[in-house]
Amino acid sequence: MEIRYVDDSEGLEAVRSTLQTTDRIALDCEAAGYHRYSDRLCLIQLSANGQTYLMDPFEVDPAPVLRPVLEGSEVEVVMHGADFDVRLLARDLGIRPGKLFDTQIAASLLGIEAIGLSALLKSELGIHLSKKYQKADWARRPLPSPMREYAAHDSAHLIALAAHLRPALEQAGRLGWAVEEFRELEQVRFEKSEGRDPVRSVKEARTLGPREVDRLREALGWRDRLGRELDRALFRVAADAVLVETARTNPATVSALSGIRGMSPALAAEWGSDLLARFREVDDRPEDGLVGYPAREGSSNGSGRPSLEVEARIARLKTIRNERARQLGVGRGTLLSNAVLQEIAELSPIRTEDVEAVKGVRRWQAELLAADLIASL
Ligand SMILES: [Zn+2]
Repeated sequence: MEIRYVDDSEGLEAVRSTLQTTDRIALDCEAAGYHRYSDRLCLIQLSANGQTYLMDPFEVDPAPVLRPVLEGSEVEVVMHGADFDVRLLARDLGIRPGKLFDTQIAASLLGIEAIGLSALLKSELGIHLSKKYQKADWARRPLPSPMREYAAHDSAHLIALAAHLRPALEQAGRLGWAVEEFRELEQVRFEKSEGRDPVRSVKEARTLGPREVDRLREALGWRDRLGRELDRALFRVAADAVLVETARTNPATVSALSGIRGMSPALAAEWGSDLLARFREVDDRPEDGLVGYPAREGSSNGSGRPSLEVEARIARLKTIRNERARQLGVGRGTLLSNAVLQEIAELSPIRTEDVEAVKGVRRWQAELLAADLIASL
């Protein structure tokens, strides 16, 4: 495998000339999200014609070279688990790939269980990759050569993998499903999370009382501010579970706060009094001044949980979905996610078109499932 690190205009020219002679490229991105608050783009790996380029966006702007090719309809762009990378490319480079093939989606539609890149390369192509740098800090410079090599492997085998999966999809009559998924993927965007209540992103929040939820909301705001100031990933400031525990136990002192399992004593010592002040403010709220867990968007029953009637429908829908997933040999969530099932249960559609119109339902899913789902409602 030939690797070239691209950090000047000469390197970009080499990328440009490779792009002119190919109709298929593989692409992967590394971001700093695991270690840093900002998940900014740190590296773009591009493989084509047996060559892999590692583009350093801190040194060069690869957008002018990549955009015309990625956004065109001539060159197929093979990626693995592209959802996050597509958002990154759009946000940081203003590029929206136009002709994607996602090897992870392809594998999941084939019912392959282990769909991580290294598992897939091993099972489908017999290639063994190390996972050593999976959680490395990609913002590091200079990028040590073992990390460069590791990064290059992330895109180097994707074209071969796609060439292996595509005929399998065709044979299974599922290429159409995959193509529909790829077209959806091309539409994903970074959602602005502003305005969205942060407690929604914490699963256990639903199990808390209103005052505890209000404390959790304060704790999340506190963590976000620390993450931003320290440029540290949120879970590295404090895990969700630690904040839930903090909201539940409502520590009165900084030393009680730093005694909470998983809470960093250093952070508690330096920033804890700010958190406790926020908690005291919640303590002072009258019962009817509490916000609590937000009502489900678009639902009227006022709690985060579906009504008993809807719960019963969800259970019936799940039975249908699970049985069908078993017959097809694909994962249940691949066939139809629980979130979408819940949506269908709430809306209780009576026509196939209504199922297809539910947000998140694909045409291939509606074709496979709509009639049975409707019958069970
Ligand atoms: Zn990667």
